[in-house]
Amino acid sequence: MARDDTSKMTPMMAQYFGLKEEAGDALLFYRMGDFFELFFEDAEVASACLDIALTKRGKEKGEDVPMCGVPVHAAETYLAKLIRAGHRVAIAEQVETPAEAKARDGSKALVRRAIIRLVTPGTLTEESLLESGSANWLAAIGKAGGDYAIAACDISTGRFELIACAPGDLRAELARLDPAETIAAEPVAGIEARWGHDGFDSARGEAALKARFGIRSMDGFGSPTRAELAAAGGLLAYLDATQKEAASFLAAPRRIERARRMAIDPATRDSLEITRSAQGGYKGSLLHNLDRCVSAGGKRRLAEDVAAPLTDRAAIERRLALVQHFAEDQLTREDVRRRLKAMPDIARALARLVAGRGNPRDLGLLRDGLDAARNLATELDGADPAPDLLASLLPDCRGHDELIDLFASALVATPPIDAAKGGAIAPGFDPELDRLRETAAGGRKAIAALESKYREATGISALKIRHNNVLGYHIEVPAKHAPKLMDEGSGFTHRQTMANAVRFNSPDLHEEARALTEAGAEALAREHKHLADLTDRAVADAARLAVTAEAVARIDVAAALAARAIEGGWTLPHLLDQPCLEIEGGRHPVVEAALEAEGDRFVANDCALGPPDRLWLITGPNMGGKSTFLRQVALVCLLAQSGSYVPASSARIGVVDRLFSRVGASDNLARGRSTFMVEMVETAAILAQATKDSLVILDEIGRGTSTYDGLAIAWGVVEAMHDDIKARTLFATHYHELTRLADRLDALSLHHVRAREYKGELVLLHEVADGPADRSYGIAVAKLAGLPPKLLKRARAVLAKLEEGREATGGIAAGLDSLPLFAAAPEAEPGPSPLAEALADLDPDAMSPREALDALYRLKKLADEDAG
Ligand code: ATP
Repeated sequence: MARDDTSKMTPMMAQYFGLKEEAGDALLFYRMGDFFELFFEDAEVASACLDIALTKRGKEKGEDVPMCGVPVHAAETYLAKLIRAGHRVAIAEQVETPAEAKARDGSKALVRRAIIRLVTPGTLTEESLLESGSANWLAAIGKAGGDYAIAACDISTGRFELIACAPGDLRAELARLDPAETIAAEPVAGIEARWGHDGFDSARGEAALKARFGIRSMDGFGSPTRAELAAAGGLLAYLDATQKEAASFLAAPRRIERARRMAIDPATRDSLEITRSAQGGYKGSLLHNLDRCVSAGGKRRLAEDVAAPLTDRAAIERRLALVQHFAEDQLTREDVRRRLKAMPDIARALARLVAGRGNPRDLGLLRDGLDAARNLATELDGADPAPDLLASLLPDCRGHDELIDLFASALVATPPIDAAKGGAIAPGFDPELDRLRETAAGGRKAIAALESKYREATGISALKIRHNNVLGYHIEVPAKHAPKLMDEGSGFTHRQTMANAVRFNSPDLHEEARALTEAGAEALAREHKHLADLTDRAVADAARLAVTAEAVARIDVAAALAARAIEGGWTLPHLLDQPCLEIEGGRHPVVEAALEAEGDRFVANDCALGPPDRLWLITGPNMGGKSTFLRQVALVCLLAQSGSYVPASSARIGVVDRLFSRVGASDNLARGRSTFMVEMVETAAILAQATKDSLVILDEIGRGTSTYDGLAIAWGVVEAMHDDIKARTLFATHYHELTRLADRLDALSLHHVRAREYKGELVLLHEVADGPADRSYGIAVAKLAGLPPKLLKRARAVLAKLEEGREATGGIAAGLDSLPLFAAAPEAEPGPSPLAEALADLDPDAMSPREALDALYRLKKLADEDAG
């Protein structure tokens, strides 16, 4: 229904449409009493998504108005579902009481409503709407001239980053952040973002940053680029538009230097299953295997560390030294982890308080968390020598004594979540509050005494003093006793007659009730004032409190990595500045865990890449363990540079600037490109971006096309990696022909995964050994997979023919020029089929009609077998 119809609408519908227009494509939660109601299309969408009843409310223009609603007290659960399903929700609240509306506009007045917040995936602060262990980024893509930048924030913890990016790096950077929501002013090629937003302008961005952080110059923020300012402008405008009056928690922006992080593109992230498995879940990912953090903050920190390994050797070593400290001191490690486990999530509690969505419990969490952080620092103080990183983290854990003391004296041990009933402020904190509480308590006692007194005086043992919102305190007796109290002179005043009971008042009760109610209301008001002051105190300190939360998270990560290392027998990696890579006894942690769960053992393997031997060509049977080996080498580097021990018996790693991992012909139909096209686009990206300090892993590149094309492309890629790019490279292939390249390319060496055929059965050893594979085992693997014996027999025959052809031409040894000869090998000349043989045997002239009919059936049967 269009807005210009409003003149013919009920006032409520006119108000609704006004708000709906403001909400745009967000679903509108329209507050009516104890419910948020949705109408029209919103109601249809929400009722389907939430699985709640779709009803009707009156008619507009002769048509039923579809409606559904959710109770306000349970709204968060429904919101969570809608947000997860990808919707945004505008919350329209009543912004005046019915009494105020009446006073303003007479008895028929409509209560004013306004959108107080737009709930979107990237702007959440509520505990129930967030995953405790992952960050919740909102990313904004800004542009100035030809430059791009991302401004990203997580208002549930206050993180705020600015990242200047070349257009080609946007996707990689977004893949690192994995934002819950991405916005932009206009569409950006290849990026999924909600566009059409305002504020993406460097001047507005600068002004908004200055206003928000109360600064005069951008120097303090490391002089952001114009694109970064434009991105920040769009981000801050979106926060204003979604949060309305509520504040959002942002620390000062940090400019991220991309060069200080290992570059990992989205395809590599997917292929290595870093934070998500190939199936899309957390289980089965590297992070899931690695994470032993005991605090939510630690989990978030670790996820970010693993998504963005460092390239600065000194910074990596600082992290590693702290992990080593905990790895070598079991007692401290266990004690620290015990403490961290009991610690509340300071960052998220703080963010809720800043957003004005905090509650008394959050204040209590802050107090307990800060106190625990202080004690943790004391526990860790004695270390000698203290690792560098620890020495800088400990002061960050402290410095809040005054706030802790204040909160400790002000709040009860476990403050309630709901402030409305009071009981959050501790006795002794405010003498006046104590007095009011005593008065109220005295009043309650006096009322109880009145009840006994009236029972005795009237002789009605069923007499009760009750309370409700309409009458307040009143006396209630069963209907049959009512006449006694109705008497004039009884001292009771009739208030209300119910079916079974009659209600009265009395001057004494009235007096006690008034005193009690007044004291109660005053006490509550005082409590609220104290809570507001305490919240202000916390908010004023937000930036410093966030630093403490961060320090605690960092300690959790280090202790957790130490615990993981001890558990798995991992080792401290040594980092170097030369492009070498020496891993002894390397393992793939995820595959190893999967095998262990089934009682199998993982076979550890070595890898040694360096300037004289920087390209390994690996052959061997399918299922032999090539992919696993390739990935484990990449993961060892990634873990080391994230600051973790590694699953190996020793590791010397020259810092990797960019990591690439590609699997040939992987399906990416969702992106609308053929598999081979994807493979080639990704290979092109590697050739364009890899440097001599990179690590490149290519798994069966060139698989998705004809043998010739594939081999030729693989050949070209190996040569380019070897001659031009000179990156450390592992190249797994089924093209045995490529092994001939070893004769010409000095820094290429041949390796294979070992297999044996034992009594006709294939045994995969999963060992990486020197030299090329002696033969291919494709048919043996096909047998393992259960292909029918007849087909296998045929395949062996075809293979023999093909190999004969290859022998006759000298194979590929003579170089690519001889390849056509290989192709000219007989195209698997089929021998006579059983059907043809049977036909040839027939002599129609010598057959009786009966024999002819039998023969016809026999032939038909053979033909069917042939086809099947
Ligand atoms: P394909 O060529 O078919 O892709 P592949 O040679 O790359 O095969 P992988 O996928 O790496 O083989 O490994 C296949 C399976 O072998 C794994 O799922 C795992 O169960 C087992 N495996 C691999 N490496 C090892 C190892 N080092 N120790 C024990 N088992 C292993």
